[in-house]
Amino acid sequence: MHPVERDDRDVAGIVVAAGSGERLGANLPKAMTEVDGRPLWQWAVQALRDGGCGHIVVVAPPQAEWLDAIGAADPDAAVVPGGPARQDSVRLGLDALADEAPTYVLVHDAARAMTPADVVRRVIESLRGGADVVTPAVRVADTLRQVVDDGSRLLDRAGLRAVQTPQGARFEVLTRAHADAHASGTSATDDVTLCERLGYQVTLVDGDERAFKITTPVDLALARALTRA
Ligand code: C5P
Repeated sequence: MHPVERDDRDVAGIVVAAGSGERLGANLPKAMTEVDGRPLWQWAVQALRDGGCGHIVVVAPPQAEWLDAIGAADPDAAVVPGGPARQDSVRLGLDALADEAPTYVLVHDAARAMTPADVVRRVIESLRGGADVVTPAVRVADTLRQVVDDGSRLLDRAGLRAVQTPQGARFEVLTRAHADAHASGTSATDDVTLCERLGYQVTLVDGDERAFKITTPVDLALARALTRA
């Protein structure tokens, strides 16, 4: 493990772990599903801590049993109930950091449980280097076609990137972006896009193929295989 440089208390990490995860087919919230004896949310928290986040908020499934289970398993993390959509959960996580007011904040999907800590380090390094808004991203392996009215057309794969998490920003920027989106009823599938709306440039750093999102039973099998490898 790399030593944490400087004071890591100025970097907070939010793990969004609410939502049902119906596509996974389990009868419990996706983030509570275990890989190698640890629930997905715990893998995600560990990567943030190892990568240099000094303060952790877990946005949990709102039922008392899950809030209690997460609080008991990780007494050092703040645990808050999530909202109906991911974007609501992130906003609730940011609210929980209002008093702390860290300089930077990273938002990480519990579902990207296998993300190596190096990805977290790259995001933090980029923020400390002056970037306002950062996301890890990877090249796209498949050939992609866009569906259009009269059929489909080839997209230039070389110029496309798939974005991952943790995504990072200055705390003040991400808080404003979420407040603005909430007030105007705007939604986006990730956090950097909400910052971009306010005019901030999104900086890309190298992601990692292990940071894939666990969505289906096949993804879960892959995560379990990775921990055995
Ligand atoms: O459903 P999906 O995998 O796209 O969700 C991405 C991440 O957002 C997951 O880690 C999930 O736990 C989280 N989420 C949330 N609150 C919701 C929906 C999803 O925290 N209401």
